Amino acid sequence: MQQNTGLADDTANLPLVVGVDLGGTQLRTAVLRGPTLLSRVGMLTGHPAPERILPVIFKAIEQTLAEANVSIDAIAGIGIAAPGPLDHRTGIVYDPPNMPGWNRVPLRDLFAERFHVPIYVENDANTCCLGEYMFGAGRGYNTVVYMTISTGIGGGVIINGDIMEGASGIAAEFGHMTIDRHGERCNCGNTGCLEHIASGTAIARHANEVIHAGEGAELLNFARTMLQHSDTVTNQSALPTTLGYEGDTVELLFPPSAAHASEQVQEMQKIQAEQGTLPEDELVVNARTVALAAEAGVPVARAIVQDAAEALGIGLVNIIHLFNPDVIILGGGVTQMGPMLMEPALHVVQERAMRVPREAAHIVLAQLGHNVGLVGAGALIYHYGKRGKHGGSEGTA
Ligand SMILES: [Zn+2]
Repeated sequence: MQQNTGLADDTANLPLVVGVDLGGTQLRTAVLRGPTLLSRVGMLTGHPAPERILPVIFKAIEQTLAEANVSIDAIAGIGIAAPGPLDHRTGIVYDPPNMPGWNRVPLRDLFAERFHVPIYVENDANTCCLGEYMFGAGRGYNTVVYMTISTGIGGGVIINGDIMEGASGIAAEFGHMTIDRHGERCNCGNTGCLEHIASGTAIARHANEVIHAGEGAELLNFARTMLQHSDTVTNQSALPTTLGYEGDTVELLFPPSAAHASEQVQEMQKIQAEQGTLPEDELVVNARTVALAAEAGVPVARAIVQDAAEALGIGLVNIIHLFNPDVIILGGGVTQMGPMLMEPALHVVQERAMRVPREAAHIVLAQLGHNVGLVGAGALIYHYGKRGKHGGSEGTA
């Protein structure tokens, strides 16, 4: 095997960088050296328009620099992970579905006006893939596939050190490969998409549909019992809510952090209350509730997780056949379900994938945890800077 061109071996000598992880509802920024965070500032943002959020991001960057006691002059660049679609060569963000009001935002140039250092913008899933490739589970491999299974399903592919962008920067949308050609319509326009069957949102939707259909009595009982004994539930974000599941976009954290997650749930409830989207007063389960119920042996919950797992397995088979990867790295909160998700998925891979590429593919969990977006964003500077590739603003300082 060819040597990986990542930089993991000697991270102590890497220059300092700033990473920005810009999500649909939250913002995180950090000063990093390789995979190591020197400081971190995070906040929930709701869904702000670009002109409202940019000053907040700039302030957060200044705060994280101050906390690390580092001046902007000591920084080799700023890497930004943003939801796609975007063009990493120009740093223009088009209209991400979860960021209303963002239409052709020249994110890189707006940052370059404020900070006179090289600025790189990349799709968030590609950024995570790069982080794992350089500093996590992808080290030492040449053909690296990353798939994140969270509220949605996204992915990235690195082949021989290059991020696969595709013609429009949309490559590796693993969530929107067809798993069931007779399946339901997905938001993307396709039917039977992996994301529509196996994402955290899909698992929750499926469970609530079963409950609505009157077939989820046991699951509902389990959820009510959880609420009655909520003080004994370690992971408060697993508690069912009275939120409508259509609007329930609370991200599954990876790895789950009870304190942070429950704060986040409360924050999201506040945001949804402000937006007037609080639905009728009925019990709604989320993917974590389903996971706990499945763990406890509630049959309908087990069946829902099994269904998601088998869909995931078919998705993995497709990826193995398409890319013949050295490694498929699985990240995102849903993968925290562990064996009850992974065992059926790997069983499907064993049964269906062609032997040679199946035996070549290591299927592993991501290593960088919930900081993967930040580490990957910082890694953009090492990646593009080192290779002298297009895609960055060189700054004017
Ligand atoms: Zn789709």
